Amino acid sequence: MKIRFCGAAGTVTGSCHLFEAAGKKILVDCGLFQGEPDVAARNHADFPFEPREIDAVVVTHAHIDHIGRLPRLVRKGFRGVIVATKATAELAGVSLLDSAEAARRDDRAPLYDTTDVSAVWERIAHKPAMGEQLALFDGVAVTLHPAGHIFGAVSPLFEVEEGGRTRRVLFSGDIGRNGTPIIRDPEPPELADVLVIESTYGDRDHKTMKDSGEELFLALEKAAADGGNVLVPAFALGRVQEVLYHLNDFAEAGLLEKFHVFLDSPLASRFLAVFRNNPDLFDEDAKMLLAGGDDPFRFERLHITAGSRESREIDDYKDGAIVVAPSGMCETGRIRHHLARLLPRPETDVIFLGFQGRGTLGRALVEGAKRVEIDGRSVEVRARIHTLGGFSAHAGKSELLAWARRATCPGAPCFVVHGESRPARSLAEALASDPGLQTHVPKHLETVGLG
Ligand SMILES: [Zn+2]
Repeated sequence: MKIRFCGAAGTVTGSCHLFEAAGKKILVDCGLFQGEPDVAARNHADFPFEPREIDAVVVTHAHIDHIGRLPRLVRKGFRGVIVATKATAELAGVSLLDSAEAARRDDRAPLYDTTDVSAVWERIAHKPAMGEQLALFDGVAVTLHPAGHIFGAVSPLFEVEEGGRTRRVLFSGDIGRNGTPIIRDPEPPELADVLVIESTYGDRDHKTMKDSGEELFLALEKAAADGGNVLVPAFALGRVQEVLYHLNDFAEAGLLEKFHVFLDSPLASRFLAVFRNNPDLFDEDAKMLLAGGDDPFRFERLHITAGSRESREIDDYKDGAIVVAPSGMCETGRIRHHLARLLPRPETDVIFLGFQGRGTLGRALVEGAKRVEIDGRSVEVRARIHTLGGFSAHAGKSELLAWARRATCPGAPCFVVHGESRPARSLAEALASDPGLQTHVPKHLETVGLG
């Protein structure tokens, strides 16, 4: 048994782990590298294994840094089976088609086209329910455990029979936070013999989830005082739905009277349709809302904009509009034309909900730039910028440690991935001291033997 780290080792993107057991080659995720200067070359490079020889891919969740190279894998000869929850399969379909179409429009050298995306769809052979054990191959079973994080996300546990004994190998995927609206909390299995764990926030904790809703409300109250419009840049998958959930709460409590809410993203609307299609994955609170007749994604003052002309008209709306639009870091999407028009107005409020990567428009605004460039135009910034710290789809350090204590046997080997070097090292040290795991931070393309 061995694992080779073919992505997200020493970095947070490009997740791809090659797990070899019982004579089979299984990939856990096949994601895109994102956000670093050499990503195009890394994404276009040959895989460090022969795609034809891969027997299966188990997908943890539908973020593009976990699924974005699947169409390329199929194009390069992969003929095995793909395993994912039904929700992940549906979200991945929406997301991959959208990125294939965007690549075609922008005339970049596309990694793949819509035909490759359909070919991925055809290889999805198993959609087990969370917690249901799937006999994948002779001697290899896999069970997908709820990981929180985003809708449909899981931590796969492999049970491998080799040489007369069974070993339990657990991949965390991305672990969410307890109390995230809509989705169930992470529920790891117990007694894993080997653990591969993410470390995005391995060196720090977040504010509590309860604070994040309050923070959003306080920012909206401030924004309401001068009657301008409010822009909320948010990731189309996960964050948009979480924001709508809070806004629905405020609307139901009669606190949203000064505003109309515009969801300005066809992609986010398509993701929303997948949420509605899988109500069994909602957490207890969201299920109770639904049972009581309150659809958390539908309220009186919510408008869904479809066409781009409608989208442009929102900026002329004088009666207090909250515009929720991708992308989270303002690098692409409709949020850019709203920013170009509304940033020069002092009565505009922009609410940032998450981490802004270096070099992005979002980062410039958060750092207080007085002038920014948007699509070739120089734009003056007179709007008020808010940065809320409580929203995150990733568990903080204490939550990761608590999760690992529940999930592992004492002394188990543990590989820390999906983190920059500081958080990865910090988490590795903490895991070594309690619960006392044998931790290691693997390098890109390193192979570790598991005996
Ligand atoms: Zn993720």
